[in-house]
Parts: sequence; structure tokens; C-alpha cells
Amino acid sequence: MKLARRMQSLPPYLFAELDRKKREAESRGMEVIAFTMGDPDLPTPEPIVQAAQRAVTVPANHRYPPYPGTLSFRKTAARWLERRFGVRLDAEKNVLALIGSKEGIAHLSLVMLEPGDVALCPDPGYPVYAISARLAGAEVHYLPLLEKNNFWPDLGAVPPEILKRAKLLWLCYPNNPTAAVADRQQLKQAVAFCRQHDILLCYDAAYSEVVLEGEPSPSILEIDGALNCAVEFHSHSKTYNMTGWRVGFAAGNEKIIKALADLKSNLDSGVFGAVQQAAEYALESWPQFMGGILDAYRRRRDELCAGLKRLGFDARPPRATFYVWMPVPGGDDVAFATKLIEKAGVLVTPGSGFGQAGRGYVRLVLTQGRVKEALERLEKAGIRGQS
Ligand SMILES: *Cc1c(COP(=O)(O)O)cnc(C)c1O
Repeated sequence: MKLARRMQSLPPYLFAELDRKKREAESRGMEVIAFTMGDPDLPTPEPIVQAAQRAVTVPANHRYPPYPGTLSFRKTAARWLERRFGVRLDAEKNVLALIGSKEGIAHLSLVMLEPGDVALCPDPGYPVYAISARLAGAEVHYLPLLEKNNFWPDLGAVPPEILKRAKLLWLCYPNNPTAAVADRQQLKQAVAFCRQHDILLCYDAAYSEVVLEGEPSPSILEIDGALNCAVEFHSHSKTYNMTGWRVGFAAGNEKIIKALADLKSNLDSGVFGAVQQAAEYALESWPQFMGGILDAYRRRRDELCAGLKRLGFDARPPRATFYVWMPVPGGDDVAFATKLIEKAGVLVTPGSGFGQAGRGYVRLVLTQGRVKEALERLEKAGIRGQS
């Protein structure tokens, strides 16, 4: 049996590759401390779990949910967007429930792209933007996120022949993997660019609530004109430690939301009603849960970055997200990550796994609590930075 040709265009999923390295080390008897998965280790807050327990017993939830999400879920999401960002949307026209935001992100490529089209994707970036574009038969033009530009793309550098074919621009702030944040001025610039070139601005806000210092992160939908050209992706995963529940939502341009809903109604049957009710509870009770979760990340960040600095590394404490994006001594991120797993049993993600421009960095997560132990292992293995 022959697989479809599109399967050959699939790169090995980044974390699958890393998982293999981890298992290799484990088979040598090494017990690995992984700083790789952007998956909160802390449990979902108890009141959200209890809301789900109540909802599971409701017979209406045992049946197929409405395809675009229950009206109640969509209204709750719209109310949250208004409370949090001051953005007023029509729950039925502008909001759509998703089986986690990854699902919506991947399907949006099918909604928008065909062969000959181009998706503008950040490099380094969340791999799903580019992979889903390729699965849709489209081309990817990468926008390097450089440190000297605070990891914001140079939109003016996109060649005119690419701009003509570009249909999507993906942006994610607070950013995975660089931990960069964006301000309203930058978002205004992106909206103006997309309106000028008739490009859909796809704004991944998975980390909008994971802000450890400074101003709250803005929504793209706060920007004048954004509803004409943008759709934003929100997720319960990172905010409420709910990665396993598979729930999030898209919000934005009515035509795009409707098209994404139409596509999805042919491919999936929505989010379990009880999960939607628990997700509503989370949105209604926000920010009751955030304080404790963010404090844990701050403590780990301070401990990890101070420890790495003591070892001579250039570890910068992130203002947002639960990632530390660290330049490696010598500039070879794959060699550095390999050395860490082989000598110390500490697993980190080489930046080049997120794209060419990620070369020279590694990403560490703050969702791993064994910081002290990992630092001791590095020290014991004699792994040091340059200074
Ligand atoms: C984790 C993550 C997502 C996807 O989260 P879901 O669990 O599918 O909601 C989307 N974008 C980025 C950048 C992420 O890191």
C-alpha cells in the first residue's frame, strides 16, 4: 500500500524526534529531566475539574454538541474577550469553539490556501503553521524573528512577488519559542500590512495570559480594522493547565469564522459538551486561577535563570510564556542539546527544530519543577557557558 505523497512532505514532528533521544538515554540507564514539552506539569485547578464532574452527568452532554460550540460557550468566550480586552463581538458570528487551538490553526490552512498560495510563517515558530500550509499544497515563506528586532518580523522585507501570492500571516505573541512580547504599536503595523496586501492575519494568542512581568498582552482584535482582516486563536491549554482537555476557540472576522466552521462541520463533531461547560467555568472564574499558576512559573524562572547564569550561560528571564530562549556557547544548538542529554541527562529543545533562524539557541520550559536537580547535574558534568 502506498501512502499519499503529502505524507512525504511531513517532517518528523519535532517532539517525536526528541522523545527518541530521551528514550535512548533512558535505555542506557540515564534518568532524564526533560525541559522540552510546553505542557504544564501542574494539575487543572480543582474547581474547573469539579465543574466538569457536574457536567458529565448531564444527559444533554452525552449527545453530539452543536458543531460551532454551544451558544453558551461562545457567549462566555465573547464576554471574556470583552472583560479582558474590551473587544465586543457577536458570539454567533465571530466566535467558534475548537478542539484545542492547534486543530483550528491546522484547519485554517485548508480553508485559505491552495497550490500557488503562500503562507508567511515566523522562523523560529510553532511548526503547525507551516506544516498545515504544505499539507494544503501551498508554499511557505519564512519571516526570520531576529533578536536585534526583538523577535518581531521585518514585514517590509517580504519580496513583492511573494506578497502578491501571500494569503496568510501567522504571528504569535507572547511568542513561542522566543518568549518575546509585542505591543499595540507592532500589532497596528501588522494590521495595516495585512489590510494593504489583502492577507489574513492569524494571531496565535495561546500565551496571552501567561505574562510574568509588565503590561497584560494585547489582543489583535483591539486594533482598529482588525475585524476586517484578522482571526485570533485562544486556548485553555496553557492558561488553565488544560492541555489534555482539548478546548480553545477562534475569534475574529465573520467570513473566516463561518468558513472554518463549515469546514470543521465536515471533518469533526465538536468539543464534548461537558468540556465546554468546564471551559466556560474557567473563563468565568478567570483570573482567580492565574495568580498561583504564574507565581510557580516566576519562581522556577528565577531559579533556572540565576542558576544558568552562575554556570556562565546567557539566560534571560522571560517576561511572558513559560519558555527560556537561550543562546548557546559556540552557536551549535544541536551539538549543545546532544551534550546535555548525553552527559547530564537533561533534555532541552534545539532552537533549529523551530526553524533555521532558531539555530544557536535552545528552548527550556518552566513546566518542569526539577530545576535545582538539573542545575546540579549540569555543574557536575562540567557543562558551562562562556563567561
Ligand atoms: C501549545 C500551543 C498551541 C496549541 O495549543 P492547544 O493545546 O492545541 O490549544 C498553539 N500555539 C502555540 C504557539 C502553542 O505553543
